[in-house]
Amino acid sequence: MGSEPTGEEFVECRSPATGEVIGHWSVTSPRVVRQTVERSRQAQARWAEVPTRERASRMLQFRDALVRNAPRLADTLVRECGKPRQEALLHEVGVLCSALTYYSRNAESLLAPETVIPHLLKHRRSVLHYVPRGVVGVISPWNFPLMIPYVDAVTALFAGNSAVIKPSEHASLIALEAKRVWDESGLDPDLIQVVTGRGETGQALIEGGAAKIIFTGGPETGPRVAAECAKNVVECVLELGGKAPAIVCDDANVSFAARAITYGGFYNAGQACVSVERVLAHESIAEELVGELVTLADGLRVGGPEGVWDVGPLIYEPGRDRIEALLQDAVERGASIVFGGQRVERRGCFFHPTVVANCTPDMRIMREEIFGPVIPVMSVRDDAHALDIANSLPIGLNGYVFTKDVERGRGLASRLQVGSVVINDVLSDYGAADVPFGGIKKSGYGKTHGAAALRSMCHVKHVGEPRLPPPTPAWFPYSERGERLARQALHALFSSKSPLSRLLGRF
Ligand code: NDP
Repeated sequence: MGSEPTGEEFVECRSPATGEVIGHWSVTSPRVVRQTVERSRQAQARWAEVPTRERASRMLQFRDALVRNAPRLADTLVRECGKPRQEALLHEVGVLCSALTYYSRNAESLLAPETVIPHLLKHRRSVLHYVPRGVVGVISPWNFPLMIPYVDAVTALFAGNSAVIKPSEHASLIALEAKRVWDESGLDPDLIQVVTGRGETGQALIEGGAAKIIFTGGPETGPRVAAECAKNVVECVLELGGKAPAIVCDDANVSFAARAITYGGFYNAGQACVSVERVLAHESIAEELVGELVTLADGLRVGGPEGVWDVGPLIYEPGRDRIEALLQDAVERGASIVFGGQRVERRGCFFHPTVVANCTPDMRIMREEIFGPVIPVMSVRDDAHALDIANSLPIGLNGYVFTKDVERGRGLASRLQVGSVVINDVLSDYGAADVPFGGIKKSGYGKTHGAAALRSMCHVKHVGEPRLPPPTPAWFPYSERGERLARQALHALFSSKSPLSRLLGRF
């Protein structure tokens, strides 16, 4: 495994909740990254020979191993990231198991060869084959450090690839722990490997021969990774930041919306790309909503790693400094912090769940990813005003709409410039294994999850087969008669006035 001691730098990991040293890992050198990719390539060649149905069935050995080891994995997530145990179990281990279940049931049909009879070349049959690409490199962030890299890795494997994961330096222990679970599952250890390090290790993976890169991370790193991929002619998927708006209409069930927004804003201490990052509340219900949000925020337990808690620590100190800077800017521009707004007085990197009212679009808190337990609320006049604000940013990952009128919700969803919208719910878009997830604008391109992600792990190879002999008179040598026939054929086949063209249009 790439992360085994290489005689190079060792990195200490500290719990964000207590500051205690909880483990260490070593930086994988570029040479070892290249060797890891080579071993991965050899394992992939063997794996690609296994029929899809058999692959799909064998992958369930990993699911069983995950379920068996779920408490141990959750412990590591609690220690390394400060996640509440329930979130660790359901949204990290559970979502990964759900992806394994979905793909094991559907991979065979989704990757089955497709036959196309080309509409003007009826003498031929075209067969489209989904061919694995080889080694897929997965570069992942720290906020869902088990689920994100391993869902991408198993998606790659269902499609016949192998995977090399480069986890975030801030959450590498869990990636290594899950690798041990993979090894224990009885599947080829070289099919999923982990290389640890910082940005340079990710870069070494791109240069080291990966055939495709799935990158999830921040909007600053994403373009650098895309440029590196372009240099190496490697296709990539970019899953970058979000700033999810939650539009609360005047007809919404305010209590329900407040509960959903509290969950969507404070879940994982607000450190999710799909977090509710700005609330756009109709002016007639905004005050009531803010009141409910304050009551709910007041009931949350901040804590960890012992006992039961709702909101854990932030992953690191720069995150907390950033939240303070955003709050200061908001207050200077006229916002009111109506709940929270300061650090929790205890050891560890904690911040109080915070509700900010009277926000305006010029505030940084309404424009930049907060990535912390802060819910900014702005009043809007009507749906059009809400859409104007929601769509005004250069990013567009996902969004939420709260209304009792499903048609109105659908209308707003169709006009939100994002990759995914959920009506009267939060966060569930990322958790659904069956539906594609990914942003538009500067939130990136490409999809993870669902059929789209599985197929994009392959290249589509076309094989043409004869049904009838080819029209050889159209081949060399060309002639004046051939030209005349070509003109007549163009008219007959494509002119809207031609009876033949009209007839063909019916089929
Ligand atoms: P970063 O962009 O800082 O890092 C992401 C990964 O890229 C890390 O493994 C990092 O390594 C690595 N990396 C850094 N520089 C390079 C480089 N030059 N070449 C290759 N790899 C590199 O993101 P964070 O870890 O801070 O994650 C938070 C971000 O992720 C947020 O913006 C969030 O919105 C986004 N995100 C998006 C999701 C989506 O689906 N759209 C889902 C979840 C999060 P290292 O950390 O060791 O420096």
